[in-house]
Amino acid sequence: MASTPFIIVAIDGGAASGKSSSARTLSERFHLLHVDTGSFYRAITAELLRRGVAATDLAGVKSALAGIRLGTRVEGRSARMEIGGRVAGDEIRSREVNDNVSHFAAIPEVRTALLAYQRGQAVVARERGFRGLVMEGRDIGSVIFPDADFRFFLHADPEERARRRAQEGQQDAIAERDRLDSSRKTAPLACPVGAVSIDTTHLSLPAVVERMATAIAARLPDS
Ligand code: C5P
Repeated sequence: MASTPFIIVAIDGGAASGKSSSARTLSERFHLLHVDTGSFYRAITAELLRRGVAATDLAGVKSALAGIRLGTRVEGRSARMEIGGRVAGDEIRSREVNDNVSHFAAIPEVRTALLAYQRGQAVVARERGFRGLVMEGRDIGSVIFPDADFRFFLHADPEERARRRAQEGQQDAIAERDRLDSSRKTAPLACPVGAVSIDTTHLSLPAVVERMATAIAARLPDS
């Protein structure tokens, strides 16, 4: 009997484009480890801020990164980043982190520090018996897993995305974050060549997921 293939699904897109909800649903449907890389950048940002390091202080960022020990805890179907054995809490969604995360994420040393860690999530997924992983972020299909089995890029009109964030009760300058994320030199937010681009402005979550799931199911014989 042919063994079930291990699949990697990459979902990229701007803030509030529908990545997290889609990734969570796909992880349940296909038994994939859900990896939200935005939460990794947020956790690192919260830690650096806690240590009093500013994004403008490159020497401080480098020396703090050298002293940070990363691990992974799997909770349900989600991979959580551990820093020094501790998983960050709600502070990663704070106003302060929202305002700073894109500045830290633009620093090449920060991205390099996370590169192997993010790729290593495939090992975590295999060890825990998942059928694969669904990873969401800004550079997953372009840099982290350019050979992913499926690469999706979600986008939506800025007004609709602002409405979604407000509905979640979050204060988040998403247009400014998108501007910073799209204009940085290292791994900018952009639709990777060859990725499937989906405009989610007028689509319901189930409709977005259905498009992705149909493509995935066609490759997984027993789903
Ligand atoms: O996905 P989320 O909006 O939580 O991501 C927070 C920030 O983390 C983004 O605005 C971006 O600056 C950074 N990020 C990144 N690359 C990723 C994921 C997130 O630069 N793969």
